[in-house]
Amino acid sequence: MDCPKRSTIVIYGASSPHVGDIFKSQAFELGAILAKNGRRIVTGAGLTGLMASVEDGALSQGGHVTGVIPQFMVDNGWLHGGLTEVIVTKDMQERKATMARMADACVALPGGTGTFEELFEVITWKMLGLFTRPIIILNTDSYYEPLLDMLDRTVERQFMSPYFKQLWAVAKTPAQALELIDSIPDWLSPHSKISKADLK
Ligand code: AMP
Repeated sequence: MDCPKRSTIVIYGASSPHVGDIFKSQAFELGAILAKNGRRIVTGAGLTGLMASVEDGALSQGGHVTGVIPQFMVDNGWLHGGLTEVIVTKDMQERKATMARMADACVALPGGTGTFEELFEVITWKMLGLFTRPIIILNTDSYYEPLLDMLDRTVERQFMSPYFKQLWAVAKTPAQALELIDSIPDWLSPHSKISKADLK
């Protein structure tokens, strides 16, 4: 299927500065490869962790990085000072909705509960037809295997239709993430397009 070039890529990822170098280097590489390919990235504007790595990777290639951050995090001193553009929101809900509205695609880097929340929110919105763009999980160093097993389990135990396994895709490398960003078609609203037979 023909897909338009997706120019604005929202990236979720860890705030922890303590994660291993393999995570930081893949996050940096993702930012760099997206910028080299002319993509603007949108992040949570974090000063630390994989958010900072992906921002720094994009900035190292002259990329455009928009950070979307709630006022309380700015007040806490958590804002990366070198971003191209900053959007300050009143709270977390406004931040996440703003990021989702901007996204031509989303990528989840490894992270903790904050990243899981952002990833699962956007997957759930997509399931409901409220979000239509590709969602890529970057499975650096197999970090996400237990979570992917849990998603398989939701299907096996019939908490979710196998149809919805199309809501996300898994990449092993930043280059593969970019390929998926450009090749996965937009999601058609389940409410208008999915037949009962698909959802068994
Ligand atoms: P986590 O994966 O738990 O580190 O959470 C990452 C997400 O949590 C970010 O996208 C933010 O929403 C939020 N967050 C938590 N701590 C920070 C921080 N120090 N700076 C910026 N964002 C943070």
